[in-house]
Amino acid sequence: MNRISWDQYFMAQSHLLALRSTCERLAVGATIVRDKRIIAGGYNGSISGGVHCIDEGCYVIDGHCIRTIHAEMNALLQCAKFGVKTEGAEIYVTHFPCVHCCKAIIQAGIKSVYYANDYKNHPYAIELFKQAGVHVEQVAFYEAAIDMYAKEKSDFVSRLLALAEANGTEPETMDEFQKEAEKLFFASKQKI
Ligand SMILES: [Zn+2]
Ligand SMILES: [Zn+2]
Repeated sequence: MNRISWDQYFMAQSHLLALRSTCERLAVGATIVRDKRIIAGGYNGSISGGVHCIDEGCYVIDGHCIRTIHAEMNALLQCAKFGVKTEGAEIYVTHFPCVHCCKAIIQAGIKSVYYANDYKNHPYAIELFKQAGVHVEQVAFYEAAIDMYAKEKSDFVSRLLALAEANGTEPETMDEFQKEAEKLFFASKQKI
């Protein structure tokens, strides 16, 4: 059994949180960690008790949905609400933070930002992180890391692929199948 790495564990938490997002434009999750403990989490959504974009549509001004609070901001505000120190903490986010969240992250004393997906990566945010000495690193998230049956599934797919080849499936189609399977299982297994 492969033990999940800390990076994958915290990144998985952020991806789980993103599934709670109420804005249709982008589902983002953020997890704040200190000393390898999760101290807060957030996703992008309306203020508590407010109407949701998924019900009423987004409230778009100048190309941005102004109804939602970003995931990073929600996680930081959760710390403010419950009096949890963020100085020296780390944040795991599904997407590269916007300029506003970048400033809040720096000001809250977060020392490392780990993000899974590039998202507009604003040069000003990159510059601000650098100036503040915040460590920024891309950490890809592999779904197979949290799949208890990843091995069984990949073994099963391997058997099906071998059978398809034995039954005379066209080489181009086999190539396609192989690539698809690698994307799902094999590439992730190596990098967890
Ligand atoms: Zn929205
Ligand atoms: Zn943001």
